[in-house]
Amino acid sequence: MKRREFLTASAVAGVAAVCGTQRATAQVAAGDGMPKLTPPEKPAVLNLCLQWGMIPGGDINQKLDFLEANGYNAVETPTGGFLLNDGEKLHAAMNGRKLFVATACGGSNFAYASQEKRDNEVKNFLPQLEVLGMLKSPGLIICPARGNLSEEGWLSGKELRKDFVENTGRRMAEHALKHGTSIVLEPLRRNETPFLRQVSDGAVMARDINKQIGGAGATVMGDFWHMALEEHNFFGAFVSAGKLLSHVHIASLKGRQIPGVDGDADNYVDGFKGLKLIGYRGAVSLEGGVPKDGNKEQLLANMVKLLRDQWAMA
Ligand code: MG
Repeated sequence: MKRREFLTASAVAGVAAVCGTQRATAQVAAGDGMPKLTPPEKPAVLNLCLQWGMIPGGDINQKLDFLEANGYNAVETPTGGFLLNDGEKLHAAMNGRKLFVATACGGSNFAYASQEKRDNEVKNFLPQLEVLGMLKSPGLIICPARGNLSEEGWLSGKELRKDFVENTGRRMAEHALKHGTSIVLEPLRRNETPFLRQVSDGAVMARDINKQIGGAGATVMGDFWHMALEEHNFFGAFVSAGKLLSHVHIASLKGRQIPGVDGDADNYVDGFKGLKLIGYRGAVSLEGGVPKDGNKEQLLANMVKLLRDQWAMA
């Protein structure tokens, strides 16, 4: 059996076991040298989510009302001023709702050669992590480095990895852990960064940080758009992250817009199988654009149906 077939068969067996009654006996058998995959204790859940700017509505309550009325389970916020100025308001507005706060998403860069600049970047995020802890969010999305990093003024390669794992990333993760949240490492595409491009690599970095701080203050996420270029398959990438996976971004796979607008290309079933196998219960959040002249609300409704149908197929 080829590796891909093995993994697919394993996923089916694993997911079936979750729904069945004999979990212990349904564990996936380890073949020659192959990993033993254990079905999750609690079944995975598809929690659909939108980023703040995508949500129709003028104020916080209108946006949250839209999410609740249209089949979403979570909200993704901006970082920076939004968290620091409106975090309390959002906290109050979430009271009594059937939604959770997923991650916060915004810019970051920890590749400055100047230690002072890196320290400032860390310092900026510490109070934001405290707000995310209050909101019971799984974490703050961090893309550790952007750009080609080959010029003067930037760390790169091993030097950057060591500094992120042992210094900047570790310090933020330690603070996050203290406040009940995490830093969420996001792998990007090769045209965006040479540093972190695969979910498995982000998971290793998170693990190496967590070993130092004694808890899961660092986690990893997968963005279907980036993964479509960088990963051999969605399934294996998500399985490689396992329990460290705390967030997922999704978009149409040709033009990075609302899922469904790229027709048959927008197939996430393989990835959803991976999410089911690891018992993923975080958010699957749209990060993509709206086609010119597209009816946003109609396209969002189509997306909700498409993703729920594909989840059921997985
Ligand atoms: Mg993303």
